Amino acid sequence: MESEKDTRFTSIQRKLKVLLPSPEIPLRHQWHNPQNVSIFVKRDDQIHPIISGNKWRKLASTLNLCIANNTAHVISFGGGHSNHLHALAYCCWQLGISFTAIVRGNYTQNETATLTDLLRWQTEIRYVDKKTYQRRNDSEYLKELQSKYPDAVIIPEGGSSVRALEGIAGLVAELNQEYDVILAPVASGATLSGLINASDKLPTTLMGVAVLKGHGYLEELVEQFLPEELKQKAKDCNWHIDHNFHHGGYAKSSPELHEFCEQFQARAGFQLEPVYSGKLFFALKHMIENSLFEAHQRILVIHTGGLQGART
Ligand SMILES: *Cc1c(COP(=O)(O)O)cnc(C)c1O
Repeated sequence: MESEKDTRFTSIQRKLKVLLPSPEIPLRHQWHNPQNVSIFVKRDDQIHPIISGNKWRKLASTLNLCIANNTAHVISFGGGHSNHLHALAYCCWQLGISFTAIVRGNYTQNETATLTDLLRWQTEIRYVDKKTYQRRNDSEYLKELQSKYPDAVIIPEGGSSVRALEGIAGLVAELNQEYDVILAPVASGATLSGLINASDKLPTTLMGVAVLKGHGYLEELVEQFLPEELKQKAKDCNWHIDHNFHHGGYAKSSPELHEFCEQFQARAGFQLEPVYSGKLFFALKHMIENSLFEAHQRILVIHTGGLQGART
């Protein structure tokens, strides 16, 4: 059964030229490291030149289902720089599925690089105002949308559904060694949920770094994706979210963060962007320099990709 599933994943992966497993490499850095921890990076940013790593993991299972069911039309939601819309639009285009993107705001006069790509990949873009966009998860709104497009599969913002957990489990299954701590950024919470779901039996602490202001709210989001039995023993599961590094909110930044991202690349040899991975590695550096890990711990940081979103 397991291998059957794997084969299905592989065929769509092959078609889209998604390269798995992603590299798992030691981090080159010059940070003060008093506890002498070792740091590794799971380079999900390297999965594909266009499809952002985290979004492939989250969409793979849904896209497989679409192919199996001969789905002709997919609809989803996002902002003007959305990594999710970008990844999904490209996948749909390659797989011969028509795609409608419901975009928050109106960018007709100032199209972003992300939206230009979407149009190139034949996405139908529908701009909606903030108020309409807020209803993207309301059952009434979704029912209306579905009746307008009865044949379409509607995928939630960020590709964040229970189905996303399967793909994240794939990431965990790829790991070559055991870690004491795994770090990942948190926005919708699906990635962290996937890690919790896949590693509840591992002796690993899962640490989310919030990229937006959402104390309490983000924890709820993470729990909402977890299966009942994991939800109930949430306290036994070894996970938490650090809320100290959102730099003012989603897509908000600071000169300090920008400088950090720029300097990071020269030493580590790979790029960060300020919305997700920048905040994640910034948090990591702070934690290491302030001895917030135990001596000699092995730490894995998940680079979730997203560099396309940083284009202007
Ligand atoms: C969407 C995204 C995230 C956030 O993942 P969630 O599952 O929504 O918490 C992190 N990193 C990148 C690069 C993303 O595009």
